[in-house]
Amino acid sequence: SETTEYFTIDEKLIDGIFKPRKDFSHKGTYGKATIAGGSYGKIGAAVLATKSALKVGAGLTFTLAPACGYEILQISCPEAMFIESGTRFIENFKTEAPTVYGIGPGLGTHEDTENGLLDFLKEYTHPLILDADALNILSKDKKNIELIPEHSVITPHPKEFERLFGSTENSFERLALALKKAKECNLYIVLKDHHTQVVTPEGKVFYNITGNAGLAKGGSGDILTGILTSLLAQGYTQEEACVLGVWLHGRAADLAAEKYSKESMLPTDVINEFGAVFEELT
Ligand code: AMP
Ligand code: MG
Repeated sequence: SETTEYFTIDEKLIDGIFKPRKDFSHKGTYGKATIAGGSYGKIGAAVLATKSALKVGAGLTFTLAPACGYEILQISCPEAMFIESGTRFIENFKTEAPTVYGIGPGLGTHEDTENGLLDFLKEYTHPLILDADALNILSKDKKNIELIPEHSVITPHPKEFERLFGSTENSFERLALALKKAKECNLYIVLKDHHTQVVTPEGKVFYNITGNAGLAKGGSGDILTGILTSLLAQGYTQEEACVLGVWLHGRAADLAAEKYSKESMLPTDVINEFGAVFEELT
């Protein structure tokens, strides 16, 4: 449709989305999340996304990463399982969907990684989350956008958005272009910024008002990818996962800023505030 609906993400909206954990449940109830990323010198991004997925509550969490990340990931995230990605990075991906993939943090843009990701996307048809270097790889050819499975979520910061869809004069034009692309490509676009906007294929725009400039640091986006992957794995719809996810990310950041200051807070501190945010919700 042609109409755009605007919403502010407030506590009432979040209360309507959040589903507390059920007493009679087991790890199978809460889905499988797989973070695919990391490369030599950027394993930390995969660690952050994996920790974030764990701390948001996925039933089982996996990390698909190159061999150089094996010990780092097993030691820093013992609750997660490691899958070695192989030389073409994504060759160990399975094309069925018992797991939700969050692809991109620290992935790198090596030619083998690029070919591996593009080949995977040619076969894979289930919704997934693409961020960071996964988006940078797709940006190399405008036609690559068509490879993204319908109803997937992409989480570009302004520069990544520009690489994907071209430059715009200001944030209003960027939002208009995001609405057009979300509809055209049937994608959920999380436009990351000071006030992040979630744009849906049906033409809804959700403004997030949590979060602060303490998030303006490397690693902040990686933990958002972990959050979204975990929420989708747990059965939230794309719209619910994006809305709840950006709010939770920002609210945890606000709590971390109160404790440590915007200067000193780290993405790891933000992950460690997820629990306090869930306590507020239940
Ligand atoms: P990335 O650039 O991929 O690391 O993502 C940065 C994350 O931090 C996004 O979720 C942004 O919305 C958030 N962020 C960065 N700077 C700010 C800011 N000044 N105020 C609020 N959120 C921010
Ligand atoms: Mg990023």
